[in-house]
Amino acid sequence: MLQAAATAGSVQEVREITRVERIGAHSHVRGLGLDDALEARQVSQGMVGQLSARRAAGIILEMIRDGKIAGRAALIAGHPGTGKTAIAMGMAQALGTDTPFTSIAGSEIFSLEMSKTEALTQAFRRSIGVRIKEETEIIEGEVVEIQIDRPATGSGQKVGKLILKTTEMETVYDLGSKMIESLTKEKVQAGDIITIDKATGKISRLGRSFTRARDYDAMGPQTKFVQCPEGELQKRKEVVHTVTLHEVDVINSRTQGFLALFSGDTGEIKTEVREQINTKVAEWREEGKADIVPGVLFIDEVHMLDIECFSFLNRALESDLAPILIMATNRGITKIRGTNYSSPHGIPIDLLDRLLIISTSPYDEDEVKQILTIRCEEEDVEISEDALSVLTKIGQDTSLRYAIQLITAANLVSRKRKGTEVSVDDVKRVYGLFLDESRTISFLKEYQKSFMFNEVDDEAATDP
Ligand code: ATP
Repeated sequence: MLQAAATAGSVQEVREITRVERIGAHSHVRGLGLDDALEARQVSQGMVGQLSARRAAGIILEMIRDGKIAGRAALIAGHPGTGKTAIAMGMAQALGTDTPFTSIAGSEIFSLEMSKTEALTQAFRRSIGVRIKEETEIIEGEVVEIQIDRPATGSGQKVGKLILKTTEMETVYDLGSKMIESLTKEKVQAGDIITIDKATGKISRLGRSFTRARDYDAMGPQTKFVQCPEGELQKRKEVVHTVTLHEVDVINSRTQGFLALFSGDTGEIKTEVREQINTKVAEWREEGKADIVPGVLFIDEVHMLDIECFSFLNRALESDLAPILIMATNRGITKIRGTNYSSPHGIPIDLLDRLLIISTSPYDEDEVKQILTIRCEEEDVEISEDALSVLTKIGQDTSLRYAIQLITAANLVSRKRKGTEVSVDDVKRVYGLFLDESRTISFLKEYQKSFMFNEVDDEAATDP
């Protein structure tokens, strides 16, 4: 179990490295854009309009930050392209990196490698953080001498000595290759004041001890003066790591080992392992060594889940180790998958009854324009005022998403003709090249006889 704490540091490092900055569909969203009173500003942090939905999302955020309520669930429902996913992403940004946020699409849980409930359990446990507190001892003193006997070859070998002086005594520390690395990196010399972290062996240089006036003069008056410590100072410092319950599961699951965390190939985890971990985490909580950080599980396209999954969710939300569940759907009354029954949003009534429902509404012209302006800035695209107006009109007549897609394409066309900004003609050109949804339907209706496997009758084609 201690493995969890020991590898926690490296897990976090890996997370930071893999955060690739690419322009994605929601990369312009930096938060929910709320003020201190949780009122939504018209345009803020990349978010535009949709004021009441954003405010509702802000209230849910407060609940999450409070951390006291487990197993609450919310549903963001509304037309396609009305910012449901964008709002969920805004929540993730506002929560910061210390609160786990897992985002999946309903269809992701169907795989041959893992049962649906296992996939959902893993998603749940990825969304629960365990903040582990560790105490470490820090020793502070002045370096008298560093003696390196031979070059460092492998880890764990003792290759030299470090003599640390305080006014009362001198202590000799064996130097391993890791410590030598640390000493070299920090450019530690005799006379420096350093700290050694006993748990990790990490050495930090605080400064020089200018006990002799000669030294101080040599360094110049602008040099920071660090007082020589009175005696060997031993401080206790608290180090905090946040890992997710799923990470603890994987690390402690014998068949997987922690390397599975990096490959993502975790397979199924045994129920006994999870039970042991729940017990251990409960013990840590009682001893004050760990806290639980309930995060967020976001399930987009939730109507893709089937009746078994919904029943699992109903049950899982009752556990005190449940995250806040946020779901999104653009479906109206539709069949619950796996049954012949219809229900609002394709979600069974008993689950629906538990949900806080947030609805989103279509955007007006100004809002579409503002969103398109923000997207142009995000993609570094210069666009003329007229072209932006045409694009806004397209966005309103077809869909916001289609208009957003045209930005990149129109920019390419503009660059090819060596233009400095996207013009009306560039937008018209790409509008002609790429069909939107309604034009593709009329195209199909017109030419349906020429397509293979055409099973749509005329009536269905008119009412998609
Ligand atoms: P669907 O039902 O089809 O999944 P959705 O409601 O989840 O749609 P999004 O994917 O969030 O819609 O929105 C489409 C695009 O418009 C995204 O690039 C999104 O970031 C952007 N967008 C939507 N609403 C807003 C908004 N209020 N502010 C800023 N950007 C927005």
